[in-house]
Amino acid sequence: MIDFCIVGSGVSGSTLAYLINKKYSIKILDKAKGPGGRTSTRRYHNISFDHGSHYISSSSSSFHNFLKLLEKKKFIRKWDKNHLDLSFEIKNHSKKFIGNKGNNDLCKFLIKNVEKDFRKEIRKIKFTNNTWVLYTTKDKIFCKSLILSCPFPQSLRLLRNYLPKKIKNLRVVMSPIITLMVAFKKNKNIPISSIKIKNHIIDKITYENSKKRFKTDLSCWTIQTTSSYAKKIINKYKAKKKFYTAEIMREFNNITGQNKKPFFYNIHGWKYAFNKSTTDLKSYWDSKKKIGLIGDWFIGPSIEDAWNSAQNIYVKIKKNPPKIK
Ligand SMILES: Cc1cc2nc3c(=O)[nH]c(=O)nc-3n(C[C@H](O)[C@H](O)[C@H](O)COP(=O)(O)OP(=O)(O)OC[C@H]3O[C@@H](n4cnc5c(N)ncnc54)[C@H](O)[C@@H]3O)c2cc1C
Repeated sequence: MIDFCIVGSGVSGSTLAYLINKKYSIKILDKAKGPGGRTSTRRYHNISFDHGSHYISSSSSSFHNFLKLLEKKKFIRKWDKNHLDLSFEIKNHSKKFIGNKGNNDLCKFLIKNVEKDFRKEIRKIKFTNNTWVLYTTKDKIFCKSLILSCPFPQSLRLLRNYLPKKIKNLRVVMSPIITLMVAFKKNKNIPISSIKIKNHIIDKITYENSKKRFKTDLSCWTIQTTSSYAKKIINKYKAKKKFYTAEIMREFNNITGQNKKPFFYNIHGWKYAFNKSTTDLKSYWDSKKKIGLIGDWFIGPSIEDAWNSAQNIYVKIKKNPPKIK
């Protein structure tokens, strides 16, 4: 039987898998068709859109060193050119990195030697005979220890009966984001990489061609809405895709001065995109029950926070290993 099952192949799950893979037998399970979670990239023929996280940046030296290692191994590279900030927020902008082929390259690097299974949505979890049993619609997976790396509401739904009050009572509010991926005919090679806006509909715009991952005659953009706009439409946008795409497009045209119809578009809703609040913890680990929780939401709303949460549980697991041998 597997020592550890890790549910979720986002940055936190992949980081932990990388750290414990040598010592334990592990398996990553994810409901998606590939790794990366909220860092995933959508590909359509030869073009691609980072419809989750736009870039990776660091605020600590440890994460910066990790990014440098990935840069050296050619999994990620710097994303320069012009990043316009029309929100006029004064921030210390650290360097922006992107995956060479997609922003989930970071997770691909971390789990390249790990056993993994995609399109495996865990619907129910039970603990019987000192074993964790994970149920999908079709099968059961057995493991000795279990780590969930999903956004808090999803982890809570699956593991509520086995978590202590201090975790169940955490006040973690996660807000949604809608991303619109659009491509126009004729690319003009615009000397801009991204625009931060923050008006009533749009928060950020990324010019995907600036990432130099593909050659195309199309001009490709990812438009990220504000969470206040997304909150209003997250439960109904799927039924009215055309209507909301047109509404976001009108705002995009207002900002960029374009007046063209997209040649291609797709819209995606992230129900649990960003956590608004943080917790006093960085991860949760119970060596007796052999369960743990990790994720950005413990610490903050970024890739670095997800990475830090995994680093934190790794220290806890080393100090208090599960009795599984
Ligand atoms: C639109 C958007 C833009 C962003 N921009 C940036 C940015 O520019 N820079 C930055 O640093 N951060 C950004 N972020 C935040 C960043 O993406 C997250 O902080 C980070 O990816 C979270 O990683 P995680 O491992 O904690 O969770 P996730 O990436 O959410 O991983 C959880 C995984 O669990 C899987 N899962 C969930 N439930 C189940 C289940 N029942 N069974 C099986 N699998 C399951 C999911 O499929 C997912 O792969 C952005 C996020 C969004 C949504």
